[in-house]
Amino acid sequence: MTASGMKPRVLTILGATGTIGVNTLDVVARHPDRFEVFALTGATQVERMLEQCRTHRPRFAVMSEPATAAVLRARIAEEKLPVTVLEGAAALIEVATAPEVDTLMAAIVGAAGLPATLAAAQAGKRILLANKETLVVSGQLFMDAIAASGAELLPIDSEHNAIFQALPRDFSGDFQQAGVKALWLTASGGPFRTLSAEAIAAATPAQAVAHPNWVMGRKISVDSASLMNKGLEVIEARWLFNARPEQIKVVVHPQSIVHSMVEYADGSVIAQMGTPDMRTPIAYALGFPERIDAGVSALELIGRQLTFETPDTARFPCLQLAFDALAAGGSAAAVLNAANEVAVARFLDGAVPFSAIAASIAHTLDTLAGGAADTLDELLEADRQARGVAGIYLDRVQG
Ligand code: NAD
Ligand code: MG
Repeated sequence: MTASGMKPRVLTILGATGTIGVNTLDVVARHPDRFEVFALTGATQVERMLEQCRTHRPRFAVMSEPATAAVLRARIAEEKLPVTVLEGAAALIEVATAPEVDTLMAAIVGAAGLPATLAAAQAGKRILLANKETLVVSGQLFMDAIAASGAELLPIDSEHNAIFQALPRDFSGDFQQAGVKALWLTASGGPFRTLSAEAIAAATPAQAVAHPNWVMGRKISVDSASLMNKGLEVIEARWLFNARPEQIKVVVHPQSIVHSMVEYADGSVIAQMGTPDMRTPIAYALGFPERIDAGVSALELIGRQLTFETPDTARFPCLQLAFDALAAGGSAAAVLNAANEVAVARFLDGAVPFSAIAASIAHTLDTLAGGAADTLDELLEADRQARGVAGIYLDRVQG
């Protein structure tokens, strides 16, 4: 209990050193009475983790890379901080499922976040889900685990958080009963929205990560440039809200003020708006069902124009590939996600052109179509095979 008599929520933050992690700790620090930090995790950024340990005094700091854990351990000992340093993937699961923890912020990037996030779902935690790749890879399995354990799932992705806010509080996943016609996901269109196909094909990593409205990690920034991010979000929405693919619409809205919308049977469209700042959805989920201060500047609408366009799947084929993978079912979304992770990493390394991202994903989906995926092992095997097929394709592109 704290001075105010409120029992604080005990948090583990997976991916604390990333963009979402840093924003989460910013909100947490504004409410010392409400939150207690149990564990923080990172991969390679020792200096940032050390700084976070000094400020937030978690019981545990996990580095998924053993070599960086050793460096952090030495620094923590030097400064005599009361923090235990753990390492490796098993430690991520340990701190995500520890009995002391009631809330997990899942903010690791990529399928690497899946095992610990799924374990927390099985353990019945309140999960604040930023790591959309978990739902893309293991949607059915993950939602089944949530239902079986009674875990609570709150979306952090700004679009899904907006839809969550615009749906009835007691929404059960039954569109008919709730009078919901469609979910409208807004997309900024990314940095290449107005470029020609030729200019997009020749784009550099520096251009791709320069997002017009949001500051994000490098991988999701490239996904935003290719519109794969919106494709992953379509799949994420399918699972979070039990939507059929045709009930999920995508609209390009370059100002990123309307974060998404729900269309109802009576013609009402309920939108959630705000300054583009991830601390809003993070604070909403951290405080749920209460609204708490997020440190976000007020939305200034006077003089602003809000515009909406149809996405162009000819210049941005990744969006269509995601819809195709969703329609194919089985392991296809896991294959799509893994191929994308490999291609984005190669692109960021400067090894392949931007156009190779969509091409390698299409090739990998064609090669590995139709696999079953009912268990975690089958999904991880599909992920492994897709990384292999995409890697060989990209080797050929690299020459
Ligand atoms: P980021 O690259 O800034 O941070 C990623 C975090 O994951 C870091 O803490 C890093 O140490 C950790 N990490 C990376 N690889 C790891 C591995 N193999 N094992 C364990 N930890 C590892 O990314 P981000 O922008 O914070 O995004 C995190 C997640 O949130 C992604 O799934 C992204 O799609 C989602 N998301 C981000 C935003 C945003 O605005 N940044 C918005 C919506 C959703
Ligand atoms: Mg989003």
